[in-house]
Parts: sequence; C-alpha cells; structure tokens
Amino acid sequence: MNFSFDIRYGASNSLARVGTINTPHGQIQTPAFIPVGTKATVKSVLPEAMADLGAQALLANAYHLYLQPGPDILDEAGGLGTFMNWPGPTFTDSGGFQVLSLGVGFKKVLAMDAKTFRHDDVIADNKERLAHVDDEGVTFKSHIDGSMHRFTPELSMQVQHKIGADIIFAFDECTTLHNTRPYQELAMERTYAWAIRCLDEHKRLTDERVDKPYQGLFGVIQGAQYQDLRKKAATELAGLESDGQRFDGFGIGGALDKGQLGTILSWVNEILPEEKPRHLLGIGAPEDLFVGVENGCDTFDCVLASRIARTSAVYTMQGRFNLSNSGFKRDFTPIDGECDCYTCLHYTRAYMHHLFRAKEISAATLATIHNERFIVRLVDQMRQGLLDGNFADLKADFLGRYRHRSGQTSN
Ligand SMILES: [Zn+2]
Repeated sequence: MNFSFDIRYGASNSLARVGTINTPHGQIQTPAFIPVGTKATVKSVLPEAMADLGAQALLANAYHLYLQPGPDILDEAGGLGTFMNWPGPTFTDSGGFQVLSLGVGFKKVLAMDAKTFRHDDVIADNKERLAHVDDEGVTFKSHIDGSMHRFTPELSMQVQHKIGADIIFAFDECTTLHNTRPYQELAMERTYAWAIRCLDEHKRLTDERVDKPYQGLFGVIQGAQYQDLRKKAATELAGLESDGQRFDGFGIGGALDKGQLGTILSWVNEILPEEKPRHLLGIGAPEDLFVGVENGCDTFDCVLASRIARTSAVYTMQGRFNLSNSGFKRDFTPIDGECDCYTCLHYTRAYMHHLFRAKEISAATLATIHNERFIVRLVDQMRQGLLDGNFADLKADFLGRYRHRSGQTSN
C-alpha cells in the first residue's frame, strides 16, 4: 500500500503538526493548501502554472466529473492526473456537498451564521429543490441538462475509483446550520451507515483493480455545531473497521459556524488518531487557515481564491481589495509588493485594472495565479513557522496587518 503519513513535528502547546503525506503520485508537505480544480482544471490557469506557484496537489470534484465527461473517460485516460497533465497528487471530494447544495439551492453553506433561521425544509429563494436524500442515497437532477441521477455510497466509490485520485472521500450527507438538531442526528446516523458501505466498496474495488495505484479513503466527520455530535462522529469513524479496512485519513466537513471554527476543530482533532492526516473541507479564507492549522488540520481546499480572483478581488498582506476599483487606474505597482508570484513579478495593478475593465480573460488567469500563490504560500509559511517556533508571531503579524486594511475579511 503506497499511502502513508509521517509526522515530523508536533507542537507542544496546540494541536498543530507538520508532516508528509506520501501518495503514489508524490508527497505533500503539510500543512498544505490544496487548490481546487473542480472539473479537472483550475479555472483559467494551466496545471504547469499551478506547479510553478507551489501547489503540491489539486482537488477535483466527483459530482462534476461524473456528469461531465463521465468517470469512464477519466479511467480510460489513465486517471485524473494523467488526463489533466498534472503529475502530482490529486484529491476528489465525494459529491455529497454538491448534492446538498443542489438540495437547498445555496451556493455557500459551509461557513454561515448559526444564529439565523433554522428549519429542515429551508431552501434559497426562487430555487427548485434539485436533490432528495433517503437512507439508501441521494436522487438529484443534473444542473447541466436536468436529467435525473442517483448517488449512493457505492456509486460514489465507483466513480472516485474510476477518476483515480490519490485521496478520495466517503460519501456523506452534508447538512447546513439551518437544519434542526434532530435532523443533524439523523444525517449523522446516515453518514455513519454510509461510511461502512464506502469502506466495503472501497475494499472491493481496490482488490478488483489491482493494477491501479492505491487510493487513500478519508471518512468525513459531520455534526454541525454540536459538541456531542462532532465528538461522537469522530470517535465512531476513528474506530470504524469493516472487513479489515479502515479509513486512511479524515475530512472535517459539514456546516461550520465560522465563529466556532477553532472550537469545533479541537473537539474533533483531539479524538481523531494522531497518525492519520486530517483535511478541512472547503475552508480557505486566510484567517480561517490559521485557525485550522493551530487546531490540527493538515490539508485544506477551497474555491474561494480562484472564485474571487475572477471578480477582480485579490488577497494582499494589507487585506483584500478589488482591482477593478477606479483607484487602481494609474497604480503602476504590483498587486502585492511582498508577493513572489508570476503576476506580481511581471504586471501592475493598473494593467490588471485595465484587463478587468476591458473584460479580457487574461485578467482571470493573472489574478488567479496571484491569489492561489498567496494562499499556498501563506500555509507554507505556517508550516515553516511551526518548524521554526514562530507560528504565533507569524499569525499575530499577518492578522494585525490583514485585518487592519480589509476590515471585514470573512467571505
Ligand atoms: Zn502575486
């Protein structure tokens, strides 16, 4: 089995650690930020540029690739990495989150305010409910052509094996903070039952496809904002073994109340086995990454860096701002004078402002390169900070400056 995790350093005063995830396609030095290439491409940026900006691995989405081009195409191509010309490690998420998003019609459900309304039938305004969950799986309507599909834990494993990423996730029912406590309990029971089915199908497929590289399967910890539910999920999934198969790592998923992020992560990570990697699903704002690292998460993914880049929003050491604002028309300095990315080394804010105003597609490419480099590098600096013993100084310095300029930093 060509999948393992080595811990190089563990902090004495927090859950933070530094390690290496070994996969058949190479190593990931952790903590690490994993950029998202939903449909087997980081929107507007070539894989070669992602490697140049320091991305160690990429995460694609099983739901999107299942619908288009279909998992058989990726299997025939030799797997996700070969298909997209990315030689390094890859991840796929299970599709559970996308199916949930279809269910309630919300774009952003991972980090929201827990104090808003709470109701299981909640759905975004003017949205049709596109997914229905039962104990066996989820029936949903394609967002592309309206065709009906059904995902089960077994199908998610089959799809993810054909896609062939190095790290794959168990199919879970992802709830929102709007759901009631009884529903959260029900969803967690389902996620546990599905976890067993995922382990069994993963083992069957691994045995059947002996010529393929081993794929590490991560269980997903749900439980929303409830301490007892989060701890129960972590305890149960950490100890879960079916026919000799255990999870190779864990994803921390579901609805996360941003104000409680550190607390929730500490509940879970104090229980999860130290020797297995932990991935925080879908969280990637700079301030949240510090919280994730100091509370024991090893890898992170988020579409935010590339999504906001396409709207002209960029991260800098002084905070986040929009390049299309008129103040940048004659600003011939780089986006961030401290950034070492290709964009900052070669282009000015004034030029970027012009590209966004003129609606040139190269604007998205250059801004995405900057934002992805900014986040990848920030987490790299956290890793070095842990090794050098100055993580706390790095955090205080960064947040002092970043918050100072941007005021509202959350997305
Ligand atoms: Zn830059």
